[in-house]
Amino acid sequence: MTDSLSTARSEALFAEAQGLMPGGVSSPVRAFKSVGGTPRFIERGEGAYLVDVDGNRYIDYVMSFGPLLLGHAPAAVTRAIAEQAARGSSFGAPSPLEVDLANTIQAIYPSMERLRFVNSGTEGAMSAVRAARAFTGRDKVVKFDGHYHGHADLLLAKAGSGVATLGLPDSPGVPAAVTADTLVVPFNDEEAMRELFAREGEHIAAVLVEPIAGNMGLVRSAEGFLQFLREITEEHGALLVFDEVMVGFRVHPGGAQALLGVTPDVTILGKVIGGGLPVGAYGGRADIMDMMAPSGPVYQAGTLSGNPLAMAAGLALFREAEASGAWQKAADAARATADAIQSAADEAGVPVQTDSVGAMFGFFLNANAVTDYASAATSDKALFSRLHKLLLDRGVYLPPSSFEACFTSSAHTPEVVAEAAEAFRSAFAAL
Ligand SMILES: *Cc1c(COP(=O)(O)O)cnc(C)c1O
Repeated sequence: MTDSLSTARSEALFAEAQGLMPGGVSSPVRAFKSVGGTPRFIERGEGAYLVDVDGNRYIDYVMSFGPLLLGHAPAAVTRAIAEQAARGSSFGAPSPLEVDLANTIQAIYPSMERLRFVNSGTEGAMSAVRAARAFTGRDKVVKFDGHYHGHADLLLAKAGSGVATLGLPDSPGVPAAVTADTLVVPFNDEEAMRELFAREGEHIAAVLVEPIAGNMGLVRSAEGFLQFLREITEEHGALLVFDEVMVGFRVHPGGAQALLGVTPDVTILGKVIGGGLPVGAYGGRADIMDMMAPSGPVYQAGTLSGNPLAMAAGLALFREAEASGAWQKAADAARATADAIQSAADEAGVPVQTDSVGAMFGFFLNANAVTDYASAATSDKALFSRLHKLLLDRGVYLPPSSFEACFTSSAHTPEVVAEAAEAFRSAFAAL
């Protein structure tokens, strides 16, 4: 009943792509290296579904790794993009759409007194750090082990030995000198942060945190941890930077800061705010953001920044989401899917940790609770690979790595989730 699907055309394209692009892909995780098998080449998306070049249909729990809160090709967004494209795709000059989207975002994130649009989350994080360093006159930046802030050199740092040491390059090509000012600490570890600030506090420009981590699977911040970060940064004159690129408008309609009640100095956004087009933003306290050129001396620019296509897509997404109650629908789907995975695993006797926050969910094939990168890393990766393949064969597309969160959309109706639940039951039973 669940023979492997035909993937002949994906295989042929993958073979050709590998001669053209490193690993055959434009971003590494898409190559399926950690789960094995052939990455599906996608022909189109329809609501909650992906359709590959061999004609296979999958319930999509990746949603382009977060942006697609309304599902694939929602009419409102598609129309807005087409209408704007006919009026021009980039002007190299300001447009009213930037004002509209900035107003929309500021209404959701009042802490972003000033903000600037960029083209990716990576650019937003890189620029936020530059702003923080300029504002504080300090060089050191703290990040958490397993948190991802895009691929700027200074943020591609991993922990050295010891609890909180200077960061080591996490990739060849990143100079040790560039990560030497990046300090890497285990997530949710107050003691390590206290020690670090006692030693280096006067040199720390900023602490960057995913307030709910989504790049090592879904891992919540411990009760009170963000409040603790708020206090310790304030005490030492460092800035608190929330990277809400993934969780913004996903975990709560007001983002993680509204959900958790902690206000950062600077926020980084991306993914959902572009309605599926490339976009990012960073913003925060006016006195910090006014450091940026041309208000202030800190340089940061972009040919396509704030381009009208991305602005129109983002605006259409927010309007449609508000009018249709999309966030709640996507959140209901995330909770129901996480529950379905939990019960399928329980029935099959497979240890699993599931969780959902708003319109995202995650699960670890692990008998123990996951609170940081070290505990996430003890999950059963081989079993995940088998599950991933079994689910593809049953028409469910999960992120091709056990360290990615899963995403829903308003197109994930209860009927879609019921269909997925059947696939989870069957796949877990076949493990
Ligand atoms: C995706 C992501 C980024 C990077 O965004 P890109 O648009 O891929 O450059 C940064 N931070 C977090 C938390 C992310 O999830």
